[in-house]
Amino acid sequence: MFQKKYTLFSVLGFPVRLSPTWFIIAFLIAWSLARGLFPRYYQGLSLGTYWIMGVVGAIGLFACVLAHELGHSIVANRFGLRMRGITLFLFGGVSEMPDEAPTPKAEVAMALAGPMVSIALGTLLYFGGYVVDAIPVRGVVLWLAAINVILAAFNLVPGLPLDGGRVLRAGLWKWKGDILWATRVASRAGGLIGLALIGLGIANLLMGSLIGAVWWGILGLFLRGAAKMAYRQMLFRQMLSDTSVEYFADEETETVPSDISVGEFVHDYVYRSDHRFFIARRDGERLGCIDVERVKDVPDDRWEEEAIGQYAQDCSEANSIEAGEPAVTAWKRMQNRQADRLLVTNDGEAIGEIRLNDIYRYLRRRMEMEGQAASRPPAALSSNPLEHVRDSGH
Ligand SMILES: [Zn+2]
Repeated sequence: MFQKKYTLFSVLGFPVRLSPTWFIIAFLIAWSLARGLFPRYYQGLSLGTYWIMGVVGAIGLFACVLAHELGHSIVANRFGLRMRGITLFLFGGVSEMPDEAPTPKAEVAMALAGPMVSIALGTLLYFGGYVVDAIPVRGVVLWLAAINVILAAFNLVPGLPLDGGRVLRAGLWKWKGDILWATRVASRAGGLIGLALIGLGIANLLMGSLIGAVWWGILGLFLRGAAKMAYRQMLFRQMLSDTSVEYFADEETETVPSDISVGEFVHDYVYRSDHRFFIARRDGERLGCIDVERVKDVPDDRWEEEAIGQYAQDCSEANSIEAGEPAVTAWKRMQNRQADRLLVTNDGEAIGEIRLNDIYRYLRRRMEMEGQAASRPPAALSSNPLEHVRDSGH
């Protein structure tokens, strides 16, 4: 899956991003509508009209998936969960949410919000389609009405990462009070649904429908991967919530005299150390934190003129974390900042760094030792589009 995303615009404060994979699916949809579905149902229109209908249909689908995701996002916001944004990609939409629902009730409300928007939209478009007279407009609108109903129905299938899987998990969670177990069961259900879709793909292949085979096969594989991922994600959260940041903090943070130049700092400290945070000191007094990320932006021709001290800033909450916090908080903060490490502080005093790689190694080893399926945690959870997959399918 391509990692790159383009930020398009913001709706109600949620940034909307587009994965390049969406263009592939948008083209396939426009093409199959223009050359297959619309000519079959609405005969006698020109080829150009069919293509316009196809393109408008693909864009309309985009808007409908977006509306579905906004449904999730708005309800999540009501429960105090901050959404990072919505990404539309190959199989639909993803609401990126750094936190899990606080209660089973919240989970159900958040999960059902999307399908409810889709059903409402589908109903509205269905009646709207019969009001308009122009055949091309009616064709597109009625197709979108059907698509919304399919989108809702598919997402209500009870297996993670689908919305129905979230409802199932919430029910199990409420029943036994164990969210990890509930996630494991709902994730297995999702895996089985993926397997069923792969079976459907094979059946399509045997019946000679290559496109159907590829479509269902890929969707099934995707669902299986995302189901497994949903469980992993929960497992990692649990493992990191009973471990403190201090456990991961490495040795003493290095201190740097504030009057050396940026060039000296880079050559004598950055290139010769594994650290990315340093403490600037002047006459034994702490001046603040130096984040190598900030120093990167200093133009080369100013490296010799400027003293490193002027890049020292307060160890803010954004780039640091208290040693006593659970490691899961550090992990979330790194995800939010797209950072691979944080400065660890003890009562505001820097004591070391916590690194994403060390967290991954810990998770990997712990999974091995505890007999969880031994395989590597995904390399870049923070930017992985599957991270908080909740919806797929058309
Ligand atoms: Zn959904």
